[in-house]
Amino acid sequence: MDFAAIVAEIAEEIAPFRGQGRVANYIPALGAADPHKFGIAVATRDGDVFSAGDADERFSIQSISKVFTFTLALDLLGESLWRRIGREPSGSAFNSLVQLEQEAGIPRNPLINAGAIVVTDTIVQHFDRDRAVDAILSFVRQRARSEAIAIDQEIARSEAVTGFRNAALANFLKSFKNLENPVEDVLDVYFNQCAISASCSELATSMLYLANSGEDPLSGDQVVSRADARRINAVMLTCGHYDASGDFAYRVGLPAKSGVAGGIVATVPSHLAVAVWSPGLSPQGNSLVGTLALEKFSAKTGLSVFRA
Ligand code: GLN
Repeated sequence: MDFAAIVAEIAEEIAPFRGQGRVANYIPALGAADPHKFGIAVATRDGDVFSAGDADERFSIQSISKVFTFTLALDLLGESLWRRIGREPSGSAFNSLVQLEQEAGIPRNPLINAGAIVVTDTIVQHFDRDRAVDAILSFVRQRARSEAIAIDQEIARSEAVTGFRNAALANFLKSFKNLENPVEDVLDVYFNQCAISASCSELATSMLYLANSGEDPLSGDQVVSRADARRINAVMLTCGHYDASGDFAYRVGLPAKSGVAGGIVATVPSHLAVAVWSPGLSPQGNSLVGTLALEKFSAKTGLSVFRA
């Protein structure tokens, strides 16, 4: 398949839609993003990257970081992780509090904020507070093959200053005894993981282990077991876009995870990984133009887990 031509074609076709959607504005550093930006990168298992648009510009990965922490936690804890988190779609907003109260402090899944905060707690528990951020960052750098990936300190600080809902979720979890470490420590690590900056090219590369049965195809490292890779993809497919996960599966049909800065990563198991970025969001907080680009990608290539 001529991926270079396909990504170029997609960039051209989405051009009239650039600028649509609402840029996240809960912190100034994200609100300042140019909604006209668009990038797309496809990483194949033999190490090629095909990209178009602003694919090498770094942006805040935000909730895409939840895939990395979920991977680390599932690998560390195995099945016992599921005593503290579910694996069902929430049908609610990413930062919703209501369900957590109703379901006695067991978050629906690891890809909504409440679940991701529990996941981060397990990482803090394992690595201790001071090393947890480094462990997450070095995992991302290794997978992306880029030591230049870093945490945007200004974003991390602003997340902390405005993170009232996340603080509420963490306190709720603590009250239900589903947080082992101090709320402040877990939130500090969570805000730092959200503030990691990476480009589409780096993110597509970083997801290759999920497109290759858990093995990083470039280093040969078995990152997670084959069974865990399948499970992570399944949770991404069903929960990766919050209350728009059904719509994303219908339109694109790939395991994927979005972030509120406009990034989306998707995997085509046994083939490749793809990342897109465009800051304008849908009301559910997923990149509007990014989703459109991925819809075009699966239509043009026929690559979808539901391929008939
Ligand atoms: N930092 C954001 C938050 O925790 C991440 C949410 C997202 O990307 N959807 O609220």
